[in-house]
Amino acid sequence: MKVFEVSTRSRTEFVDITDEVQRAVAEMEIASGLVAVFVPHTTAGITVNENADPDVTADLAAALDRIVPWNAGYRHSEGNAAAHVKASLMGSSVLVPVDRGRLQLGTWQAVYLCEFDGPRPRKVWVQRGGG
Ligand code: ZN
Repeated sequence: MKVFEVSTRSRTEFVDITDEVQRAVAEMEIASGLVAVFVPHTTAGITVNENADPDVTADLAAALDRIVPWNAGYRHSEGNAAAHVKASLMGSSVLVPVDRGRLQLGTWQAVYLCEFDGPRPRKVWVQRGGG
């Protein structure tokens, strides 16, 4: 398994980590198979979405804010309940196919770390899946 760190810069941020994941795949010398990209955090998530138009991740963030407002009478006393809910909506991992040592993503796809309670340092784990 490879681990890398991402320093996020605002409360909500979608950070394109595709290059870091690709580097981890190369360092682990994975030729083909699947890699799991996982965040060991409860207020950050992982998703795959468009990397060409930054308005897409801005729209995602805005949509999540509409669905999960920061203040909505939550019970969790830490004050960041919305971040926990958004993290679960995005999920804590994605699986990406690898072929000939390269991540197999669609033309417009990138892997994003989704920060919902930043800024803070985040860890990303990249683990080979399957055989
Ligand atoms: Zn909390």
